[in-house]
Amino acid sequence: MTSQLRQSGGPAQHEYRILRDADLRGYLAELRAVATQLGGPPEDWSVSEVGDGNLNLVFIVRGTKGGIAVKQALPYVRLVGESWPLPLSRSHYEYLALVHQAALAPGLVPAVLHHDEALALIAMELLEPHIIMRKGLISGVCYPRFVDHITTFLARTLFLSSDLAVPAAQKKEGIAAFAGNHALCKITEDLIFTEPYFQAAQNRWTSPWLDATAIAFREDFDLHVAISRLKLKFMARPEALIHGDLHTGSIMATEDETKVIDPEFAFYGPMGFDLGAVIGNLIMSYLASAGHEHSAGERRSFEQWVLDAIENLWAEFSRKFVELWRGEAKGDAYPKTLFAGQAGAARLEAERQAYMDRLFRDTVEFSAAKIIRRILGLAHNIDFEWIEDPRLRATCEARSLRLARAMMLQTREFRTIGAVTIAARALRDWQPDFGG
Ligand code: ADP
Ligand code: MG
Repeated sequence: MTSQLRQSGGPAQHEYRILRDADLRGYLAELRAVATQLGGPPEDWSVSEVGDGNLNLVFIVRGTKGGIAVKQALPYVRLVGESWPLPLSRSHYEYLALVHQAALAPGLVPAVLHHDEALALIAMELLEPHIIMRKGLISGVCYPRFVDHITTFLARTLFLSSDLAVPAAQKKEGIAAFAGNHALCKITEDLIFTEPYFQAAQNRWTSPWLDATAIAFREDFDLHVAISRLKLKFMARPEALIHGDLHTGSIMATEDETKVIDPEFAFYGPMGFDLGAVIGNLIMSYLASAGHEHSAGERRSFEQWVLDAIENLWAEFSRKFVELWRGEAKGDAYPKTLFAGQAGAARLEAERQAYMDRLFRDTVEFSAAKIIRRILGLAHNIDFEWIEDPRLRATCEARSLRLARAMMLQTREFRTIGAVTIAARALRDWQPDFGG
């Protein structure tokens, strides 16, 4: 097989091994397109490992002409180590998702230059001078084009992979193509929808201030019902090809550009999960902001921008999604024969609104789940972690938990995105009672 491929000019086949420095250099030198893009002799290329994620290695390679990013999956969870194995096949799904997303939402994901199944490796466009949006938000940067870009990404990737846009057979082929990514889904099912609500060994929270809240969350059966319903939605609702991990750490941005990275959790799941990831993380950015102030009120205009972004995000997403539905409904859902004539068209238009209302409810609940897992579960985020004073951090986290719990349980009070931002604003200066 290998020699045949070589004879036909195809790439050499490799066994899995972690590619480091000279090995990586030699490997890339064999790939003509990549080597040309880098430029100069391979010995002169610089290689640095920049991965700050929880799972994989990411190398930045620079030549005399240009640079690339190389991502390689490890056979275990990087954050935890070899004791927690994880299939290399996630690199295949990440590659597949990047290719689909590039086709559905052009320009909003890094271009793939090369993929090697056996090495679980993807070479892609180097995003520069983009930074991880979460870091920008922590330092108080506003992103004027973000809402437009992310709503285009969300509306197009979600709508155009759903039964509203795609014939049933093709949609089911899509589900099948991603069904093998279940180990990554299981991480979500455990870490987001289960562990924060019982005393799982790997949970942590800002102790002792949040001890009582963590216990309350573990004893609250209303909450356990709500999160279990949500878990079932995540498991049993293949609505669209979702990114699966769309937090602000999976977005790289400049003032002018927005790129979505890291879709290794992609599979066919509920649309509200991606929407909730973005909105939940913006809510955390807003409520963590007080923890990053040097003087009271200095980040007010940034905070106002975040709240506006949350509101505009839903409004713009909703507008773009419905517009696609009106113009590009080529799927088998809502058959045209059932909505004939003017009366039919009017009824379908009303149903589109009802659909968006249901999707909004999902979005609110998934946002809440995303917030809770970052404060009581295993994987925390630097929005809170970088607040040095633990009592102040706990205060910001307690405000976020209070909002998230309400969003999960008092769903009728959060019928509009405005209700969400009003509630967030009301909690901005709320002082939790930590006792003692
Ligand atoms: P993980 O799956 O381990 O979370 P990510 O895909 O999130 O890995 O990448 C980890 C880090 O590597 C990112 O936070 C970012 O700093 C950097 N990175 C990833 N892809 C690129 C890219 N295409 N260009 C520049 N930097 C990148
Ligand atoms: Mg990541």
